[in-house]
Amino acid sequence: MAAADPQETGFDFFKLENFMTDQQRNVRDRVREFVQTVVNPKINPYWDRAEFPWEIAHAMKDLGIVGGVIRGWESAGLDPLEMGLVMYELAKGDGSVSTFYGVHSGLAMGSIGLLGSNEQRERWLPAMSQLEKIGAFALTEPERGSDAVDVQTTARLDGDHYVLNGAKRWIGNASISDVLIIWARDTDGDFGGFVIEDPSQVEGLTITDLTGKIGKRAVLNADITLENVRVPAENRLAKPRSFRDVGKVLALGRYGVSWEAAGVAAGAFEAALRYAKDREQFGKPIVSYQLIQQKLVEMATEVTQMQLICFQLAQLIATDQMTEGIVSMAKYNNARKARQVALLARETMGGNGILIENHVARLLTDAEIIYTYEGTNEINMLLVGRELTGFNAIA
Ligand SMILES: Cc1cc2nc3c(=O)[nH]c(=O)nc-3n(C[C@H](O)[C@H](O)[C@H](O)COP(=O)(O)OP(=O)(O)OC[C@H]3O[C@@H](n4cnc5c(N)ncnc54)[C@H](O)[C@@H]3O)c2cc1C
Repeated sequence: MAAADPQETGFDFFKLENFMTDQQRNVRDRVREFVQTVVNPKINPYWDRAEFPWEIAHAMKDLGIVGGVIRGWESAGLDPLEMGLVMYELAKGDGSVSTFYGVHSGLAMGSIGLLGSNEQRERWLPAMSQLEKIGAFALTEPERGSDAVDVQTTARLDGDHYVLNGAKRWIGNASISDVLIIWARDTDGDFGGFVIEDPSQVEGLTITDLTGKIGKRAVLNADITLENVRVPAENRLAKPRSFRDVGKVLALGRYGVSWEAAGVAAGAFEAALRYAKDREQFGKPIVSYQLIQQKLVEMATEVTQMQLICFQLAQLIATDQMTEGIVSMAKYNNARKARQVALLARETMGGNGILIENHVARLLTDAEIIYTYEGTNEINMLLVGRELTGFNAIA
């Protein structure tokens, strides 16, 4: 008997759905419907113009997903599996939308939720949960990418303010942000997160969107320069003092990106399978040819592996057993495989795979970005190596 059409059900060969609660299925279905009715029909012109899709972002507000796993402060209070499913479903539709969500809800709100004081949480999280204020997370610098532990941006205490100097690069949502978190070292050498409110009004702060990106074109990434930017001392996040602290936020980010990679791959595979069933050459649907089935089976197997890894990762987080090496292995595996699956899907669709109107071309370029951010493929591989061997081969 032929498998159910994944367009309706979502590809789930190993029946993971049977191991979800009703609530987990509800969250997934809400996001899936949002992607099918809002994201997919609207995203291409935004991607083409490299423009942020505000109408899609605003519509996300009512889904009950903003704030991810944060409980309280009007946040969604999702469990780890629900949060992962949100990233998966968003990424099946579009990688810019999943990145917008991941940066705002995971990296920015997550930093405040995990590392802020109660007063800071109360101050920023409710408006961010309602998407009335947009968050950004600025760690990477022009000269410090993988080596972000050695950030060069400085924060000097001057009375009741910190004075920030330095530069940041690639910062998602920065130019549309209301709450911009800058990671810097203070004069004691301690690591800190400094929250800049209403960045467009702040003297000495320049935010310039990067242009010419080949992927995730509908989310904005910016260069930032800080020249004697004054930030009230009370805006320093209460808890972080070392890079290890921000590592907690990055680990959660890496978890989300592992699901995101699986979602991109699943979206590409499902589109390719539909296409192969419809497309006829030499008088028969191409899906009936062995070489096309080989590609489809390879894609389906990789997607299934990614889903299984993510599913187990959710259980490990829920039971507090996830390590840096475990989440890095998931990100390393899934980002690499998403790239391969998206290429196979593109091939399966011939020339039509090149056109963004057929969905897969956009996902292919999203996979390229996922391969590099939240720790490059090499860095995640080396983090696994460090945990396996006890030797640090990164630096
Ligand atoms: C679209 C996009 C969105 C992003 N959003 C954000 C954001 O919102 N906030 C933020 O702070 N950052 C963001 N980033 C930055 C991202 O995290 C960095 O691009 C990433 O960490 C890699 O840094 P890099 O690009 O400078 O590459 P580099 O670190 O310069 O690496 C170049 C190459 O060298 C390899 N390499 C580096 N060190 C080693 C080593 N020790 N051993 C072996 N190989 C090594 C890398 O794996 C890579 O292949 C974003 C990036 C992109 C592309």
